[in-house]
Amino acid sequence: MPATGGALVCPSCDEPHPPDERFCRRCGMPLVYSDAVGNDGPITERHARARKIKPQYAEGELVRAVGAHNQAEAEFIQGMLLEEGVPSTLRRTRGFDVPDMLAAGPRDIMVPASGYCAAREVLLQAELVDDEQAAAVRPSRLLAGLLLAVSVVALITWIGTLLT
Ligand SMILES: [Zn+2]
Repeated sequence: MPATGGALVCPSCDEPHPPDERFCRRCGMPLVYSDAVGNDGPITERHARARKIKPQYAEGELVRAVGAHNQAEAEFIQGMLLEEGVPSTLRRTRGFDVPDMLAAGPRDIMVPASGYCAAREVLLQAELVDDEQAAAVRPSRLLAGLLLAVSVVALITWIGTLLT
């Protein structure tokens, strides 16, 4: 047993975990080493990851920062967020029931509520937030409304011609 290395804990709920765990069993947050700060021991990849996480971005409920089209894209985004100190975890986007072993299928990238703004900032700068709400949803809703209005007018006109 190594004397150093520290215990893996959840940055959000302080739950301790065995060293082979990567994510909190309770809330799904990526685990960090309890002594991650100021440890000069050998740096493993996971250890390096844990060190980058800023505690102020690791608090609160998990919220959806952005969606990715597949596992690879999601992991890429996670890497970018981590560079800014924002921990994240992936969830399969609801409504897409693909077996877990498949790397296909969209993912939601979840971040702690306190890291949400920082995450969105990173994504905006990387132009990875395709302004889902602004660009896609709003115009299509507008168009749907417009089409409905037009069809109502057409219907009324049509009824009018039948009655005269
Ligand atoms: Zn937790």
